[in-house]
Parts: sequence; C-alpha cells; structure tokens
Amino acid sequence: MNTFDDELNQRLAVLREKGLLRELRRVDSPAGTRIRMAGQTLLNFSSNDYLGLANDPLLKEAAIEAVKKFGAGSAAARLICGSLAPHHELEEILAQFKGVEAALSFSTGYATAIGTIGAVLGKDDLIIIDKLVHASIVDAARLSGAKIRVFDHNDLDDLEKILKWADRVQNRSHTLIVTESVFSMDGDIAPLREMAALKEKYGAWLMVDEAHATGLYGKNRRGLAEECGVGDRIEIQMGTLGKAVGSAGGYICGSRKLIDLLINRARSFVFSTAPVPASSAAAAAGIRFIQSRAGNARRKQLFARIAELNLRPASRQPRFPAAILPIIVGDNTKAVDAAAALRQRGIFAPAIRYPTVPRGQARLRITLTAAHTRSDVAELADALSNLKIQNPEAGR
Ligand code: PMP
Repeated sequence: MNTFDDELNQRLAVLREKGLLRELRRVDSPAGTRIRMAGQTLLNFSSNDYLGLANDPLLKEAAIEAVKKFGAGSAAARLICGSLAPHHELEEILAQFKGVEAALSFSTGYATAIGTIGAVLGKDDLIIIDKLVHASIVDAARLSGAKIRVFDHNDLDDLEKILKWADRVQNRSHTLIVTESVFSMDGDIAPLREMAALKEKYGAWLMVDEAHATGLYGKNRRGLAEECGVGDRIEIQMGTLGKAVGSAGGYICGSRKLIDLLINRARSFVFSTAPVPASSAAAAAGIRFIQSRAGNARRKQLFARIAELNLRPASRQPRFPAAILPIIVGDNTKAVDAAAALRQRGIFAPAIRYPTVPRGQARLRITLTAAHTRSDVAELADALSNLKIQNPEAGR
C-alpha cells in the first residue's frame, strides 16, 4: 500500500476503534416506508420525506415533464445561462408560499447556508449560533470569517449574555443570530418569539433554518416561524426542499434586497451549476401540494402518527409534536448495536453519532412520515419497547 493509503487506513482504524466508522448502505428501492436493503425489506423510520411526497405521482410527473421540456441538466450556473424557467417558477411559488417579497433556491440546503451567511457577513461581523445548529451553519459561520460565539442550546439567558457582551466590548458592524426552528437531531424547538424580541432589543439580525418545519407548522404550513407569529420579524428564512417538500435543494426567503444581494454575493450560488430542472419542478409541485386541501390532510395524517408514537412509553410525554424522535443511547457502539437489533426485527432506524450529535449522545433517530400507517407505528413501538438500552437518558 502506498503511504497515502497507509495514512488514510490509520485514520479509518481510529474511527473504527471509537465506534465512529460510517459506511454507505445501498438501498435498492425508493426511499419510502418500505426499503430494500441487502436483500431484506425493512420498515423505514429514517426518512425526512415527512409528507411522503418524494414518491408521489404529482412530483414524479412534474419532474418528468421538466426533463422533457428543459432537459436532464441545467448546463451552467444561473448567472451564465442556467437560469431556467422551472427555477424562476419555484422561486415565485416559494415567495408566495412564505408570504415574503422574494426567494432564491440553491442546489442543496448545505450550499444555501454556506452561500448566504458568507454573503451577509464578513470579518468585522459577529455570528451567534445555537450550540446544536446543523453543520452547514457551523461551516458557513467559519467560512464567513465573522467572529463566532455559541450559546447553550435554546438558552435565552446565555444568548442575551453574548448580545450584552457584544454591545459592551465589541465594535462589530453587524450581529447575526442563527438557529434552527425544529432541531434536526432532537425534534425540539427554538423559542422563536423570545429570540425575535432579543434580536430587536439589541439591534441584531435573525436567521432561522426551517429545514424540519417547512410544510408542517403554521396556518399556511410555512413553518414554525408562522406558528409562533414571527414570520415577518426574521430577516433570513432558510429551508430545504429535500424534506417535507419531497425534492432536493435549499432556499432563502426574505426581502427583495436580500435576494438581490445573494444573487450577487452568495458564492455557492454564483459559482455552481444550477439545480437540474427536474428537482425545481418537483419542489414547486411539492409546495403546491402542501398548500392544497389534500396537503393539509396529509399533514394531519403525519400528526396523527406522531400522536400515536407519543402515547407510547418509549417516547415519554410530554414532547413537542415533531416527526423526529431521538432515543439517546450515549455510547457509539451501543447505538450501532441498537440499530442492528432493530434491523433484525425488520426496522430501519439509523444510529446517529458524533460529530452529527455531541460526544456521548449517540442515539437512534426515529422519523415518522405521513406515509406510515397506524400499524407501522405500532410495530415500531413494539420493537422499541423490546430494545434493551441501559443509558439513564434512554427514551428521552
Ligand atoms: N439544515 C438542517 C437543519 C438540516 O437538517 C439539513 C440536512 N440534513 C440541512 C440544513 C442541509 O440540507 P441539504 O440536505 O439540502 O443539504
């Protein structure tokens, strides 16, 4: 083996030793509620396709139509010649859906965070992030060159302490607070109303990542910001198109000026080939569906499943009704073993380990979708109650 591979082999061995080695598992079916994996059919509780739209005929047909009309690829970045009609249509629908002046779509949620934070902040600015925000926001903060401060998860006192400190000792141009609304690995929620009040008190800006809330909360299903009545007080609303919306990509919603700035300065937008027409067309169809009566019925179906699971001892009441249920195991290897034990019972739920979650908080992450049935949830609850997890936090 050459020295390069030798070195990599050592690094992989360290990961293996710590129970942190990750491997891809091939899925030979659509990522629905039943997946084919290594010749086995498993009941899938790992998908973020919360409304079961990724395999919906409406979205598939929209994607196929877009391929027929606009081709398989988008040929170039949006500012070169890839600004195809499906991207514009998606952004018009997004802006209307969210009740904002304008929207911009990106090829992924990750690219959305990287491009946006880097466009809005520079080295003279301050970014304050919740301790548990998604890696895309952490990476974006680092890449922006702004000074980074982290507040304890959902801790308003800690956030205010940092804002006060910034007021007192810092001569920073701008301060941006960033949080998720529904947290991806815990299924808990940020206190958005209080955060909006704080950012106004201290003259900061607020960015909220609604990746796990878009399509699910609020009268118009815009997300948790709408549910909390603060949609119009958030400068930068971010989300993804690959979860409840059923396609792939990310978006920013906000003022026309914000979108104009991003078109000029978001490097992951400017210097990257546009999303394929099919993904934008499918996302637009997903949002249209979410806005429809049938979409609302689908959302209610998801919340019925969530309520059924929340009644089970494995989830311990009371908790916010999110589609994400973490079962904290603690130890990495034990989490992997618990996932393997579930697979033996025909259930797929992934073990989530560091760095996706903090050290010592490895877990099973269960996600429900509207496509699950009542008996799917009962089967899951049965399997969970038979799992032997010794960590005191288990079932949190
Ligand atoms: N933000 C959050 C909270 C997420 O959970 C994710 C995806 N897991 C992203 C951003 C990134 O989105 P994408 O997968 O579209 O890159």
